[in-house]
Amino acid sequence: MSDLVVFLGPPGAGKGTQALRIAKKFNLTHISTGDMLRDHVSRLTNLGKEAKSLLDEGKLVPDNLVIKMLTEKLREGDSSRGAILDGFPRTLKQAESLDEIRDNFPVKKVIVFEAGKDELIKRILLRGKTSGRSDDTEDSITVRLEVYEQDTEPLIDFYEQKAMVIRINAVGGVDDIYKQISKEF
Ligand code: ADP
Repeated sequence: MSDLVVFLGPPGAGKGTQALRIAKKFNLTHISTGDMLRDHVSRLTNLGKEAKSLLDEGKLVPDNLVIKMLTEKLREGDSSRGAILDGFPRTLKQAESLDEIRDNFPVKKVIVFEAGKDELIKRILLRGKTSGRSDDTEDSITVRLEVYEQDTEPLIDFYEQKAMVIRINAVGGVDDIYKQISKEF
């Protein structure tokens, strides 16, 4: 059995940055579905070919594909010390798929990153100058923020009902935010 901690929040909230640091410090596996999908795109796999235009447009990759990719990763990988899920689940269907495997991979906590829209847009545009990510553009950001509000934000309620939610103010220094999150591990 390995425990999962979910990092949930809008694009640009800093989930990836914090997940990397926390995973290293506490010896956890960092699983970023965004990174995995970008890897598929660069390797030109079938999944990558299917996902590329969706990623570029800021839309979600279909649930069944992402669920399969994620569950395989959990089963194959050595996540025995536990894992941080960065970018999954993003829809109710994805959250339900985690519920189905909760005997082996129970979700222990959901860290919710909170930041205002203007701040998020500013950050992603700044990141776009160096990230080389083809979805860090103004059009794609608008779509990603809409998708977050529509499909992903309802998950906060879903996990709130299970009393798993911890809210973090994601505006401030990276070190301060890291300290806040560390207290939860
Ligand atoms: P960000 O949080 O900045 O949007 P990510 O790297 O988490 O960046 O995700 C980038 C893109 O990858 C998303 O816009 C989406 O197209 C795809 N993606 C990542 N995770 C998922 C997921 N769980 N379900 C569907 N699509 C996903």
